[in-house]
Amino acid sequence: MHEFTPEIEKVAQEILEYSLTRLKDNPPLDGPKSESELFNLVGNTITPDGLGGSETLNLFKEILAPACISTDHPRYLAFIPSAPTELANLFDLVVGASALYGGSWLEGAGAVFAENQTLRWLSDLAGLPESAGGVFVQGGTIGNLSALVAARNNARIEHPEIKRWAVACSSEAHSSIESATEVMDVDLIKVPVQPDGIMRGSDVKRAIDKYRAEHTDRDICAIVATAGTTNLGIIDELPTVGAVANNYKIWFHVDGAYGLAGLAHEETRKLFVGVESADSFIVDPHKWLFAPFDACALIYRDPELGRKAHTQHAGYLDTLTESHEWNPSDYAIQLTRRTRGLPLWFSLAAHGTKAYSDAVAKTMDIARIAADLVIAHPNLELLREPNLSIVAFTRKGWKLEDYKTWSAKLLEDQIGFVTPSSHKGEPILRFAIVNPWTQVSDIEAIIATLD
Ligand SMILES: *Cc1c(COP(=O)(O)O)cnc(C)c1O
Repeated sequence: MHEFTPEIEKVAQEILEYSLTRLKDNPPLDGPKSESELFNLVGNTITPDGLGGSETLNLFKEILAPACISTDHPRYLAFIPSAPTELANLFDLVVGASALYGGSWLEGAGAVFAENQTLRWLSDLAGLPESAGGVFVQGGTIGNLSALVAARNNARIEHPEIKRWAVACSSEAHSSIESATEVMDVDLIKVPVQPDGIMRGSDVKRAIDKYRAEHTDRDICAIVATAGTTNLGIIDELPTVGAVANNYKIWFHVDGAYGLAGLAHEETRKLFVGVESADSFIVDPHKWLFAPFDACALIYRDPELGRKAHTQHAGYLDTLTESHEWNPSDYAIQLTRRTRGLPLWFSLAAHGTKAYSDAVAKTMDIARIAADLVIAHPNLELLREPNLSIVAFTRKGWKLEDYKTWSAKLLEDQIGFVTPSSHKGEPILRFAIVNPWTQVSDIEAIIATLD
């Protein structure tokens, strides 16, 4: 047992106190400062002799932290906010204190066991078989890339004669799919969709038939459906897209980074019928499942296909690779990994799954009320009925500049954080509601500034 030095002991108390205060108080929204402003305030923090823990913590508390927007603020509705439970955040302190290694069973069996039970919950909700499994990775971008690499690896093994592979997704799919195809150097087939933005099996079939007719030495290794687009919450028609993938024997990946959290609530779950036929899917608990950054659950129907694609081979790793135990490193593009699924595991185990269902339901209710407030407002126009918890709308007569000016002032006045987005080339506003602490009064306060 080693004791802290008196100096470390003091900093320990200060850090714990700061952390608890941050978790208990309603944090201000705060906002960014320029690099030069920050430099003028803190100077160079990396010095030969060190500033000492208390002084460094003070710089963080007083200057650096307030230059970061509180993504868990109930009126942060831009992009996709963050809304970790108190227990998830508190347990993140434990993860940080424990030097856990999450890459192998040998080193992290207890932690990996707990992460795997959490993945099992998600996999069961999606209706995948008991043999399904996966790993928590950094985010949806890495989750999508890892799944698509596994899909291509599998296709290559089955069809060595094919010279080049393609991935098909909707024109509304998340930018990370295109980014993955660039990293992988495969073709991207952007499937044109109907004006409602939903990709259907017939759309995919048409695009695939066209690609195959044009390229005799190429083929499609994966079809990606989106289960809740980031911008509008649009869900592709999973049953028909999955059926096309199945008929053509093409890997079916479902990107549910935001939306598939809706599986946690029985009403919302009905929207995702068809996901049970996925060969792989992802969902980011750091988005709508009340976990801290950063965690994406990546799940394979047949984890062996993920393992084949991703296991790294090196002399110093042979002990692990030959152990035939569940090594999370083997299921994605990564080796060393933080046990980033544990904050979610702790909170889920402590609160129970019903609390998660209730929390998702709560945000769905607030989104519905927000949509009604928009409809009732003389100057606002709802873009589409929300089917998840994103409410998109426009302000009559406003141009992009008006939206930008409004958004900047909203943050400056510390009322809320809502940024303009765009849809079909036109500027829009959207409220992404994933925080159960966001109240109707918060929505009203923001809408009041749009008169
Ligand atoms: C957010 C999101 C991603 C990317 O996830 P990150 O965790 O930000 O990497 C991918 N797809 C969809 C649909 C998303 O909403």
